[in-house]
Order: sequence, then C-alpha cells, then structure tokens
Amino acid sequence: MASAGFDAWGVVRVEKLSDAKERFEEWLAEGNAPDLGYLHRNIDKRFDASLLLEGARSVVVGAVSYKNGFSMGYEADCNTRIASYALAPDYHTMLKDMLRTVAAGLGISDRKAVKICVDSTPLAEKTLARLAGIGWIGRNSLIISPRLGSFIVLGALVLTEECDSYSAPYEEDGCVGCGRCLLRCPTGAISPNRAINTTLCISNRTVELGSESADFDTHGWIFGCDECQTCCPHNATAPLHVNPRFDTLINPTDYDSTFWANITPEEGKTLFEGTPLVRKFKK
Ligand code: SF4
Ligand code: SF4
Repeated sequence: MASAGFDAWGVVRVEKLSDAKERFEEWLAEGNAPDLGYLHRNIDKRFDASLLLEGARSVVVGAVSYKNGFSMGYEADCNTRIASYALAPDYHTMLKDMLRTVAAGLGISDRKAVKICVDSTPLAEKTLARLAGIGWIGRNSLIISPRLGSFIVLGALVLTEECDSYSAPYEEDGCVGCGRCLLRCPTGAISPNRAINTTLCISNRTVELGSESADFDTHGWIFGCDECQTCCPHNATAPLHVNPRFDTLINPTDYDSTFWANITPEEGKTLFEGTPLVRKFKK
C-alpha cells in the first residue's frame, strides 16, 4: 500500500454492517439528505460488500493525505475560498489508479475477484475505515486519523480472497471534550449527535447540488468548505501530504471575487480541467 502511495490502510472482513446501516437509515429518515438521491438508493449494498461483489470476503481500505497550504484556512478577509482537496488533481482518478496498483501487487488479475471502490460505488467507506483501524468518525462526520488528521481521502478494494489476518478497529473517540466544529460551522449544519444536515452544509450545497452561486458576503466559500476541519485540533498537528500526486494545481489567491462573478462555464471547464473544481462548471 505504501508503494502505491497510501499513507494508512487496513483490512476488514466482509460482514453486514447492521448497526451502521441502522444509524444511516435513521439519519436519512430525519430528513438530513432529502436532495441526495444516491444516498437513498443501494442502502443494502452500501452496508454489505458481498452484495457489491459475489463471493466478497475482505475489504482493503486505504487513506491518503491531501493536506496542503490552504487546508488550515485562508486570510480572514478572503471571500473567495475553495476547499483544499479541490486544489489538487481529481482524487477519484488518482485513487483508482493507486488501487489498481495494489491489486496488481497482490497478484489479482481476475476482474471477478476484485472491485475498486472510490466514492461513486455505494460502500460505507468511513465505517470500514474505522474498522480497518485508520481512525474514528468525528463529530464533523469525517474519518479522522490520529496521525494524518481528516484531510484524507479514502479508497477501497473489495476482494474475494480471505486474508491471513484482519485489522483491529479504531476504538478511541478523539472528539471527547471537544465541540469546536459545532461552534465553527457557519450554517449550523452539525448537530450535537454527530449528524450533518446536508441541506445546510455549504460543501454539499456548492459541490453536490451546485445550488449556491458565489457567496462573497456571508461565508466566502466558492466550492466546498473546510471550516469544520480547519478548526479541528487533530489537523493542527497533522503533516502536509507527501504523495506528490496530491500537489496543488490551483492557487486560489490568483482569483478574486470579480473573477468568480464573471467566469463563464466554458472558461471554468478549460481552466480547471482535471481538478474537482471543474464540476462547478458542468452543472
Ligand atoms: S473539532 Fe473537535 S469535535 Fe469536531 S471533529 Fe475535531 S476533535 Fe471532533
Ligand atoms: S463543510 Fe462547512 S458547512 Fe458543512 S458541516 Fe463542515 S463547516 Fe459546516
């Protein structure tokens, strides 16, 4: 995994994740994601990897840091902020490539013996990452590694192979006694019981829904939002990314509010091709 570029990883035995599924369904029933249709579909698959790949026995979960010079925040007067993951190349492409390298290293060539999962496949990646020992699920709903913090992206390989040994779950809760992200969230999207209301979340509104035009005056986030990560004490001590694939392509300070107010979809697609930010212009 390290030679493929991952910073942390673990292996989980495939089984139904019934408790996590129950919590997820309660969260949906509370109306926290009414606009995200994909979360309401394939729930059984999301919490049982054997429904994603026939004969699945193991899930290898990998995490890689993307923390960069903008992850810990912008100047206070900056009103054209971009979530730091979106400044680097699209992580979906990179993670799939890295996971293919891992599968090849394991000698797996039969396509029926492996499924590569990055975001678009319904898989409870954060629950599996905790079970793989990578970290805990924080109050801000993100997986937090005690070493790498939360500026990480996850990918998984579902395998039909049994493994000789499996990882121990991460059992500690590094959020005890802290609630900084609740206080910091500009829209009150985080509830004390660790649920995110996606209809309030700036990241969801600007990335998933594309429903918010540039808002320079209230929160200043153009695409995504890092507020509940920037304030997290576990990120203050986390190192910057080391995988060069995650070096940034965009310097957000090159673009001011006049630029964002006037850019056309065609210009955006050309300028930000290959980064997550291009999604803003493909709605
Ligand atoms: S800011 Fe505090 S409560 Fe929020 S995720 Fe980080 S450690 Fe947990
Ligand atoms: S991403 Fe931003 S808006 Fe969403 S929960 Fe975190 S701080 Fe709140």
